[in-house]
Amino acid sequence: MYTREKTQTVQVGNLYIGGGHPVVVQSMVNADPHDAEAILSQIQRLFVAGCELVRLAVPDREAVAVFGQVCQSSPVPLVADIHFDYRLALAAIDAGAAKVRINPGNIGSEDRVAQVLQAAKEAGIPIRIGVNSGSLPKDLLEKYGVSPQAMVEAADRYIKLCAQYDFNNLVFSLKASTVPLAVEASLEFARRYPFPQHLGITEAGPPEVGIIKSAAGLGALLGQGIGDTIRVSLTGDPVQEVEVAYRILQAFNLREYGPQLVSCPTCGRCQVPLAEIATEVAQALQGIRTPLKVAVMGCAVNGPGEAREADIGIACGPDGGLLFKNGEIIGKLSRDQLIPQLIAEIKQISGRNS
Ligand code: SF4
Repeated sequence: MYTREKTQTVQVGNLYIGGGHPVVVQSMVNADPHDAEAILSQIQRLFVAGCELVRLAVPDREAVAVFGQVCQSSPVPLVADIHFDYRLALAAIDAGAAKVRINPGNIGSEDRVAQVLQAAKEAGIPIRIGVNSGSLPKDLLEKYGVSPQAMVEAADRYIKLCAQYDFNNLVFSLKASTVPLAVEASLEFARRYPFPQHLGITEAGPPEVGIIKSAAGLGALLGQGIGDTIRVSLTGDPVQEVEVAYRILQAFNLREYGPQLVSCPTCGRCQVPLAEIATEVAQALQGIRTPLKVAVMGCAVNGPGEAREADIGIACGPDGGLLFKNGEIIGKLSRDQLIPQLIAEIKQISGRNS
């Protein structure tokens, strides 16, 4: 099995994907591909949120010109996303793409794919081959139906095609909107090939649904050591994708992204409005990037154990509660003091005193 330590390393701008490098977080701009200003402003927001690689749709000639312009001032490497027209891929490579994503199934004849491979080779950039369950070759669909086998066989074809042209600077993705299909296909691919994988559950839906599907699908793979770069696809502002991607990676201790809030579900022992308290603490944590475990617990029975495990935590009681820091009780405080003191400690640890 080619787990992330064993995959090939691919360089994208100043980033490395695969070979045990940290899992790269990426997202995709959804601003008008002809509006450089709107694109750059979205890239800037993604960058501030921690996005490391940004993909842009390049649907036509005008978009290529804009893409080239944006490449000049983007703070992160850019991936050109190309469908149907291989000439756009060639032009995007010329314009400064750090990587190109193509689906060879819709880019045309072998000769056209070969031209894209040649141009990428000359520019020294990788190509991501995006196999999508929704656009598989007809013969594979007839043979296997929409299945992991069909997706992996499609990938296999492209690997062989690239090998004919001596091109192996590749990243693969095997995406589907159904979690088990994406997971099975990516797992099977990792059993067979050393190429780094970009993971994603495509068309996952709006945040309420998409976050769950992405966490389930990506989690099933990340937990087994599969996945070198990820995108969480959500309908909406792509900045949210970045935060969710990091939260998923953080749950597997693969990346750090600010504080982790642990709060209990409450039960009959809880005598405080814990949901309100947890929301207040979560708001205080927004914008903090220091890795920190914060526990907000509802009672003095099970609360102290978890609060002790955290960097900073509280175990609430009917009249106030205990404040813990680094496993020690540092205060027994009244209800009025407990939350402000917890927040003050968090800000002090994270270096944000204002
Ligand atoms: S910490 Fe206390 S209040 Fe919270 S769920 Fe556990 S026992 Fe219940």
